[in-house]
Amino acid sequence: MDSTYNHDTIAAIATGKGNAGIGIVKLSGPKALYIVAGLFKSGKNDKRPEKGRLPFRSHRLYHGWICSPDNGELIDEVLIGVMLAPHSYTAEDVVEINCHGGYQSVKIILEYVLKRGARLSEPGEFTRRAWLNGRIDLCQAEAVIEIITARSRKALEIAGKRLEGEFGKRLKAIRNSAVDIFSELEAGIEFGQEIEAIRDQNTVGRQIRIDVLRPIQELIRGYHIAQPQVDGLRVGVIGCPNVGKSSLVNRLISEERVIVSDQPGTTRDRVDISIRIGGLPMILTDTAGLGMSQESLDIASMTKTVEYLKDCENILFVLDASQKISSEEHRIKELVREKNVLVVHNKMDLVKNSFKPSLPKSWPKWPAVKISARYDKEFVSLEAAIRKMAQTDNQEGISSIIPNLRQYELLEKVKGALERAVHILDSTEEGAPLAVCDLKEAIECLDSAAGVKVDEDMLEHIFRQFCIGK
Ligand code: GDP
Repeated sequence: MDSTYNHDTIAAIATGKGNAGIGIVKLSGPKALYIVAGLFKSGKNDKRPEKGRLPFRSHRLYHGWICSPDNGELIDEVLIGVMLAPHSYTAEDVVEINCHGGYQSVKIILEYVLKRGARLSEPGEFTRRAWLNGRIDLCQAEAVIEIITARSRKALEIAGKRLEGEFGKRLKAIRNSAVDIFSELEAGIEFGQEIEAIRDQNTVGRQIRIDVLRPIQELIRGYHIAQPQVDGLRVGVIGCPNVGKSSLVNRLISEERVIVSDQPGTTRDRVDISIRIGGLPMILTDTAGLGMSQESLDIASMTKTVEYLKDCENILFVLDASQKISSEEHRIKELVREKNVLVVHNKMDLVKNSFKPSLPKSWPKWPAVKISARYDKEFVSLEAAIRKMAQTDNQEGISSIIPNLRQYELLEKVKGALERAVHILDSTEEGAPLAVCDLKEAIECLDSAAGVKVDEDMLEHIFRQFCIGK
């Protein structure tokens, strides 16, 4: 990182684009006050502060005007928020210029502060400074972006806990336990004969299980339970061509985004759509129909659908109620037999009112709903059934201290290493040296998950997700 990094003053528009009541231009760095003082005319005494004199006190709001540095022309009425180091977001001097929203005011004010010596910030640079200055840890920095992009109340709650630093604290406690055991094992290898307090391998193995492995498993379990509510439940829409899959998806998202046609096989590739049903975020995937022709393009599309099915646990299996179940649909049933399936009998407008669609006896007893994707005004029963599908079992006792995807992947590695260590200690008499290696790996992964040890790639990955101005 550039050594001048923390010595220059950065600026950016912190609010979103578009018409809005308020817009904020934010500055952070040693010259933030000086830069703003040169543009500000106080509303109180109608006097612009003298150059170099910085009349601002921390955690105060100042009312006044931003003026052109060229000719003193008043540009916009503003409130200036001042937070002096280290009591600010970045732990540096921070000034926020609250002006009117829209495009022009924020743009011109930003131009002025850049003219007076600020540099346009990079994405995530304010948060990166907060981290570099030691005000937050990396888990908290990640939490900031997760709060901004939260797609559900649960996602917000979990990110909020991480921002409070709860996740980092939990990992630290687990890590400390792992380090204690690691040190004991190492001491045992080196001085086994001399130290009386060294315990036998099985006891150490049990302690790894209780103090380290079990809390890691809890965090992993929490991730699996919370993940659909955070990132969106993945729901695949499958069925033969022309049964109305795309029509159904279009109706659910209330817009014609997926091509509907009476030509079989119009959806040749997967289409992922983010929607919310009953407040829950979902990623609905319209798939290529299974059972198309044997042409190479069709085969390729179907292969993709079958691949996708391997990873998708929740399925809307669409059937045409006006047609008999086909042999291909029997085959699809086998493909999804073990999954969380909701059968959707579509095109109910084409059958008599008295007709009750049913599934062959050999099929699993899947829940089913009847709809007409073409004519139904609303899908109350379908949406209720989808919501039910999303209810993951046994959410009790799951705290809001949940890893994100990056941390989860590292925790899986920690778990693997710990399981190996326990197995070796339980099964091999002289297993301690090998178990020490596994414990070392587990501790390193824990450090990465907690953001204690990070490489530049990981930092790039984290801060790349930010917008400019945060
Ligand atoms: P997909 O290939 O399974 O995605 O099917 P589409 O959504 O493209 O629909 C195939 C054809 O069936 C189109 O002509 C749709 O208008 C028609 N269709 C879809 N749903 C219904 C329905 O509920 N009733 C009727 N009568 N036609 C439908």
